[in-house]
Amino acid sequence: MASPKSKKLSAPKNELPPGRRDGSNAKPRPSPARPGSLYNAAEVHEIFRRFSVQRPEPKGELEHVNAFTLLVAVVLSAQATDVGVNKATRALFKVADTPQKMLALGEARVGDHIRTIGLWRNKAKNVIALSQALIRDLGGEVPDNREQLVELPGVGRKTANVVLNMAFGQHTMAVDTHILRIGNRLGLAPGKTPEQVEQGLLRIIPDEYMRHAHHWLILHGRYVCKARKPDCPACVIADICKAQEKTTDVPAPLVELAPLGPPDEIQ
Ligand code: SF4
Repeated sequence: MASPKSKKLSAPKNELPPGRRDGSNAKPRPSPARPGSLYNAAEVHEIFRRFSVQRPEPKGELEHVNAFTLLVAVVLSAQATDVGVNKATRALFKVADTPQKMLALGEARVGDHIRTIGLWRNKAKNVIALSQALIRDLGGEVPDNREQLVELPGVGRKTANVVLNMAFGQHTMAVDTHILRIGNRLGLAPGKTPEQVEQGLLRIIPDEYMRHAHHWLILHGRYVCKARKPDCPACVIADICKAQEKTTDVPAPLVELAPLGPPDEIQ
């Protein structure tokens, strides 16, 4: 397999380096993929190409059996770990994997199942309320569009983006704490709010990588570019990264990784 360092990163042929556009002798600078990003289009492409080699088929780590249980799991995952949510939902989804069954189970018994998850009382209310809304307004089906999803109790933009991406294969970017950090730390898509980072990433990530980009960035942030201390020697994009905190320019070997075990960090 070719070494990651062997690929020369340059702007696409039809883009002149900005420093030479006026014919001056100014030192050429890489052309940004889009305003705000520190990376040119070729660099962004190479970052995601490497992520795709590491994890050709990344999976979300929240267990679910259909779009409804995915929606419930994501609602429950706010301020909770995926592993904690999975422990609670394994038994819950065995008895209630549709809005109708969830409603029949009732708020008190849903609460019993999810008592180990933070904010469980409020979440039990929301799970029942969103089941009611799905049955009443949407024929019991999880909608495949953001407008209807964010109308459901307990469902915000991030939850809607996760469901649209994972259940319906749409090219959305759900910005969690890891992606917010990476967007800013690397200067990939700087922004003060999750929505600014979301819009920046949507603008620069090539279409061919959008299906899995959300998972790649979350996994990179969770296991390598960690909040307190990024593990730069283990990072396959260390030669491209422009983060001030990075500790090496030498990228880790680019190999396909074994599937991950359960996560243990707060989302
Ligand atoms: S080199 Fe370090 S700071 Fe840059 S992306 Fe990799 S882990 Fe993060």
